[in-house]
Amino acid sequence: MDTLAAGVTQLRIQRFVNVYFVETGTPGEWVLIDTGLPGSKKTILAAADKLFYPGSHPEAIILTHGHLDHLGSAKELADHWNVPIVVHPLELPYVTGQALYPPRDPTVGGSLAFMSRFFPTQLPNLTDRVQALDADDPSTPFLMNWRWLHVPGHAPGQLAFFREADRVLIGADAFATCHHDSVPAILLAAPKISRAGTPFNYDWEASRKSVQTLAALEPKAIGCGHGPVIIGPEAAAGLHQLADNYPIPTHGRYVNEPARTDASGVEHLPPAPKDTLPLKAAIIGGSLLAAGAAWLLTGRRKHKKSKAYKKAYKAAKKSGSYKSFTPPPLYRGGVGS
Ligand SMILES: [Zn+2]
Ligand SMILES: [Zn+2]
Repeated sequence: MDTLAAGVTQLRIQRFVNVYFVETGTPGEWVLIDTGLPGSKKTILAAADKLFYPGSHPEAIILTHGHLDHLGSAKELADHWNVPIVVHPLELPYVTGQALYPPRDPTVGGSLAFMSRFFPTQLPNLTDRVQALDADDPSTPFLMNWRWLHVPGHAPGQLAFFREADRVLIGADAFATCHHDSVPAILLAAPKISRAGTPFNYDWEASRKSVQTLAALEPKAIGCGHGPVIIGPEAAAGLHQLADNYPIPTHGRYVNEPARTDASGVEHLPPAPKDTLPLKAAIIGGSLLAAGAAWLLTGRRKHKKSKAYKKAYKAAKKSGSYKSFTPPPLYRGGVGS
């Protein structure tokens, strides 16, 4: 666990995604921001016990957005603690099973985009627990010293949180504090303010504007959904650098035209570019299977046709020791032996 600021602790889960324990200002009260991937419940409970006291529970869970790596354990934790889950109203359709997010773009480049083909699209349904924050009230529910900012482009109702008093920013996936296009770089987590969530960004202009909005806050401490905390002058400097030179990809589904969403979900999608990977994967997979099958068949045939094997077996049988007969070394350990 790392301290982002007074009363704000970052917990990194599975070396990949962060959640935040944020104290409300009233002694013993706190809020959990984001919940990691499915299966993170135990880790989060253990951290909460350590940070506060055994059996401690938050006032609420607030989700920056509903992608699986942020909402994954929300239902289990909310049920365990009996607390509400709060989201921006524009996230409601996706976290209540009424709509799917704009499809990810695996063609946009980078190993995260490559891997995104294999991420599930169905999300846990939070209907029983979720409530939307009041879009007309800029203060964050349960966290009165924090204001929320709507930062779309990555998820339609994505939220960032800012505490003016000491200029602390929780930036969600509006950007990242590590190089986020590459899976190895995410695991290494070297601090670097970077574009985030590339294969999920359905509106690149909105993503750029969201980063500009956050840079204008001049944060002194930054924690995002992915990457380590960044504290000091490099926080605002790095964010301005990203905002001023926001790297929109050169190609990809949403580069020339965004997906359009409304209060009920996705309203319009640009056509999907041709994704050649499934064909390539099929060819590679097929070749491997064929090679494996050939190896198996060759091994068996060799064994069956082996004159040395038959000769050795006959000799063993003749001498009465065939019950403990082991094949000659060439065939021992081969398939069928
Ligand atoms: Zn995300
Ligand atoms: Zn994320």
